[in-house]
Amino acid sequence: MTGDVRYGNDMRVLIVGGGIAGLTLGALLEQRGFSPHIVEKTVDYGGLGYTLALWPAGSNILKGLGMYGGLLGNADQLRTYTLLSDRGKQLHSYHMSDLAADYGPTYLIWRPDLVDVLQRSVSDEALRMGTSVTAIEQGEGSASVTFTDGTTGTYDLVVGADGIHSRVRELVFGDVPLTYHGMTGWAFWVDPSLATPGEAIEHWGDGRFVGLYPTDDKLACFMAVTAPEGSPDPVDQRLDRIRECFGGMGGLVPDVLNEMDDPEEMWHDDFYDLQMDEWVRDRVVLIGDAGHAILPTAGVGASMAMESATVLADELTRTDSAYLEQGLEHYVARRRDRVDTVQKKSRQLGSVALVDNSLLASLRDQSVKFYSQTRMEKYYEDFLSSEI
Ligand SMILES: Cc1cc2nc3c(=O)[nH]c(=O)nc-3n(C[C@H](O)[C@H](O)[C@H](O)COP(=O)(O)OP(=O)(O)OC[C@H]3O[C@@H](n4cnc5c(N)ncnc54)[C@H](O)[C@@H]3O)c2cc1C
Repeated sequence: MTGDVRYGNDMRVLIVGGGIAGLTLGALLEQRGFSPHIVEKTVDYGGLGYTLALWPAGSNILKGLGMYGGLLGNADQLRTYTLLSDRGKQLHSYHMSDLAADYGPTYLIWRPDLVDVLQRSVSDEALRMGTSVTAIEQGEGSASVTFTDGTTGTYDLVVGADGIHSRVRELVFGDVPLTYHGMTGWAFWVDPSLATPGEAIEHWGDGRFVGLYPTDDKLACFMAVTAPEGSPDPVDQRLDRIRECFGGMGGLVPDVLNEMDDPEEMWHDDFYDLQMDEWVRDRVVLIGDAGHAILPTAGVGASMAMESATVLADELTRTDSAYLEQGLEHYVARRRDRVDTVQKKSRQLGSVALVDNSLLASLRDQSVKFYSQTRMEKYYEDFLSSEI
């Protein structure tokens, strides 16, 4: 080390948010000899969540961390993807085998299980649970941070990996508006006998959507409906609300509605995404949903969060505390176009899947019937074949 310059893995890195992006970055940095500090707001992760499609773009990163085997133990390979209409009529069924042969399998995994795999990739010393940040002050080549437990620290880099409602973003970038896409949704487990392992089934309705995703011998259900922003979802009225919203749908939906019994065990949220022009300010950088939240409709936000973590880790190994700005510029340059493209696609898909007009929904259904296997593969090939 020369003077006060800290090279590569001597740099002091704070990661705020121990979710998918934060744990991936933490694990990759530890593997490269860094000693990052990760703070995670929740005391323990809990089991509520939803099923993710994890594409090779994300899962391959686990290979380098030696955790791919851990993933396989908790996930189901996506083999077919079938779309049904509101009334349950099959519109199209796609096989995923050619994409899997060319790029690797896509897995369906419960988000808490993926977090668990990633948590096992970082050391206990790196991760401080039940902690967040209350203040971040930028100095000359460093950032001073105050934590919720009153302690402080000085870092060469603070990484905001604290999800769509990022506190780091709020503290450093101010009030950046999220975009609400008029949808709210619930996720929960249903009887696995309703679907075949490996077969994801989605009902694309008129302003409503029901997806069933086999995951590790279980079956996850995800339901979404168009709704005004901030519509209340009181737990004691949740089942009635869902039955009312999804009543009259065909296919497997009546069985799902019959099965629901514990509203406390349902994950619920409204759907926003986030487009920001800027991800870096001095010694603070945003990754994952904190900087580029993507609508769940294309099923790629987690893979993109893991990719962003990987690119940032890569850039950090090739710089030092004096030239960090350049490393961060390279990070942004490598991520910008890809993130913008994927966000745009996910928005388009969302507006099609949940179109809230019966005439347009019926036109959409006709188009899906003619949307060929080759076109579906091309849609995902663009995403899977890009360099990162
Ligand atoms: C219903 C639904 C379905 C989805 N389906 C898919 C899919 O099929 N495929 C896919 O790839 N993506 C999917 N996504 C998107 C994916 O879940 C996100 O893109 C991904 O979780 C982003 O990872 P992240 O680490 O950036 O944020 P998160 O996973 O949200 O993690 C953020 C972490 O930061 C912590 N945190 C929050 N605030 C603070 C704070 N102030 N201080 C410290 N810690 C904090 C949180 O507790 C959390 O652990 C879906 C999303 C939803 C909502």
